[in-house]
Amino acid sequence: MIHKRVRILVSGVVQGVGFRPFVFNLALKYGIKGFVLNNSSGVLIDAEGAEDDLESFIEEIKSAPPKSSIIEDIEIECSCEPLYRKEFIIKNSEQEASGCTMLPTDRAICPECLREMRSKENKRYSYPFINCIDCGPRYTIIKALPYDRDRTSMDSFVMCDSCKVEYENPIDRRFHAEPISCQACGPKLTLYRKNGSTVIDGLKSIEIAAKAIKKGEIVAIKGMGGFHLVCDASKANVVKRLRDKKNRPSKPFAVMFAAFSDILKCAEIDELERELINSSERPIVLVQKRKPHRLEKFCIACDYLAPNNPRMGVFLPYTPLHILLMDRLHSPVVCTSANVSDEAIITSKEKIFERLSDVVDYVLDYDREIVNPVDDSVVSVVDRKPVMIRRARGYAPVNIRSSVKSNLKILALGASQKSAIAVSFDENTLLSPHIGDIDNLDTFEYFKKTVELFMGLYGFTPEAVAYDMHPAYRSVKFAKTLGLKGIGVYHHHAHILSLLGEHNIPQKRVLGIAWDGSGYGEDGTIWGGEFLEVEGVSFRRVGHLKPFKLLGGEAAIKEPSRVAFSLLYGYFGDKYLDIFDEDTTLLKKMQDSSLNAVTTTSVGRLFDAVAFIAGLIVKSSYDGEAGVCIENLVDRGRTDSYDFDVEEGVVDISSMLEGMMVDRLGDTEGLCSKFINTLAKVALSFAKSSTLPAALSGGVFQNQALLYAIKREFEKEGIEYYTHSKIPANDGGIAYGQCVYVALSAQE
Ligand code: ZN
Ligand code: FE
Repeated sequence: MIHKRVRILVSGVVQGVGFRPFVFNLALKYGIKGFVLNNSSGVLIDAEGAEDDLESFIEEIKSAPPKSSIIEDIEIECSCEPLYRKEFIIKNSEQEASGCTMLPTDRAICPECLREMRSKENKRYSYPFINCIDCGPRYTIIKALPYDRDRTSMDSFVMCDSCKVEYENPIDRRFHAEPISCQACGPKLTLYRKNGSTVIDGLKSIEIAAKAIKKGEIVAIKGMGGFHLVCDASKANVVKRLRDKKNRPSKPFAVMFAAFSDILKCAEIDELERELINSSERPIVLVQKRKPHRLEKFCIACDYLAPNNPRMGVFLPYTPLHILLMDRLHSPVVCTSANVSDEAIITSKEKIFERLSDVVDYVLDYDREIVNPVDDSVVSVVDRKPVMIRRARGYAPVNIRSSVKSNLKILALGASQKSAIAVSFDENTLLSPHIGDIDNLDTFEYFKKTVELFMGLYGFTPEAVAYDMHPAYRSVKFAKTLGLKGIGVYHHHAHILSLLGEHNIPQKRVLGIAWDGSGYGEDGTIWGGEFLEVEGVSFRRVGHLKPFKLLGGEAAIKEPSRVAFSLLYGYFGDKYLDIFDEDTTLLKKMQDSSLNAVTTTSVGRLFDAVAFIAGLIVKSSYDGEAGVCIENLVDRGRTDSYDFDVEEGVVDISSMLEGMMVDRLGDTEGLCSKFINTLAKVALSFAKSSTLPAALSGGVFQNQALLYAIKREFEKEGIEYYTHSKIPANDGGIAYGQCVYVALSAQE
């Protein structure tokens, strides 16, 4: 039999997922000698043995790798001299940074660990930080790659002898589980009062926190990627108090349930939603509310949880700590990211004391540092497909490989709201977790930290930086400070390219339908209702909503009444101004003089105006509120719509507005349904007059009622079209689209 030696380099998501023990056990099975180690390119295996065995060994690595791993590439070097070694070992990691390995994402507690945690005889009975090779924190505790304990925030905890035995035992499920620990050697819980004084340490703190929540108090609890603010979801008064304190009148709160069966009592769940809710990513899933709820007492509060909203965000506990808490509560809790207004999620107790002491009653903390903050992910299911609303914990960072290989190392900075960054090299494009609105200074710091983190982790020096064309964006100003080759990408072009990249058809010619809140356009106005013929790095604007004014600029975004005024006054003069309570003299002046007004074609703003005309909102308290309120009233059974005109690509909506002025007096549901159907028909009319497939991107396309109407209209006419799934349709996908742009422009 021929004895051979090979070196195998496996890249992809292969660290922190039990790859080395898997290889070790495989080596035992086939009698292979040599070693395996993590390096910054992935996992390196040096293997020798009988040729047949070696072949089976490699075959099994390819065909049955560990559950959470994603193999992207296997390189095999065959011309190695045999060394006739006697054993197979796991070596310590190599530190030199050469290639890149993908960051593993955080995982919810696995069934095996859950069983152990619940078993009285187990060493880790009721241990809030139990984990194994298949589960636990990853991205949130990593300081550097390769992923090894001493490069995580577990480095300050010295393994006890008993944990060490498991960690070093190749057939143990905790063999090289980097965050391994137990009551004796791991992180400790502490419960604090809001003034910072200690209440109690250890397990008892969960009990007291649970009691406080039951009593109607608000507790900040340290989760995986940051603190949550937690309160009893069935107590209307505490939910309302949380809203008042956080100055968050109507934005929906996510609700964590103790058990899946409780979610079923409150929401209509389909098969895919069930899978997502129970998945090891454990995102917040936006599901249809069940009316009426069947959970006792719960319905009292549900109107406060997600007001005027057909859906609510639900999720299951994902850390052992959450589970221990929910075990003691048995009832759903509001579980919302701890932050001030829309700042980045808070990760330290000090900051909770500093910023939220007037909101919380208690703080449940533990002493392992969260190195990389990350919010909960938000997903919804549309047309039996998962649609990413916020890509964060569990789903990010993510590598979306593309057929376009760039010869530039790219850093892309995204837009401004819902921002995320991306880096791109070779055929890899890595999208960061959701960062947030970087107009906010705190969030901007988090943004800069994320840039540094990605540079550091991948040993990556960008050769070009891609950014939005909006001259006022903070990300754009930041880009200019980097001293790199800068590449500006138009906002809506980036939206469409993000979609094409997701479908791995970056060069396809399409009719891009880019509808969102705002994005800087070629003519210096704010676009957002665009039809763009896109082909790779070039695009041509073939249509758009007839421009209207945003009076007072940015202020108009929070004031739907102003947008409604500008549309009605712009289209009809004084005819309909009696619907405004306020004195409109000043607004008229603004509009007539165009002073302090910006021009826009935004469909997002049109939603605001329509929600005002329908009497649903006066002021907008969160992004997307108008869309939610409208969707809440849409009757999907209706197919009627308003008239509209298109002349030379410009969409005139005067007939629609006139129709709405009649319907608003008695048929709000009709108004909302017909509005959504009209938008679908506008999109259809462009798609029909084009020979190209349609590509739908931009935040407006997260509106499920609209997606549903478009699907109905497009499929009736046999129109080919693309929508998002993996990449958010909102500005969370912009950085990715920018990478696609630069890669296309710098193709090999
Ligand atoms: Zn586990
Ligand atoms: Fe956008």
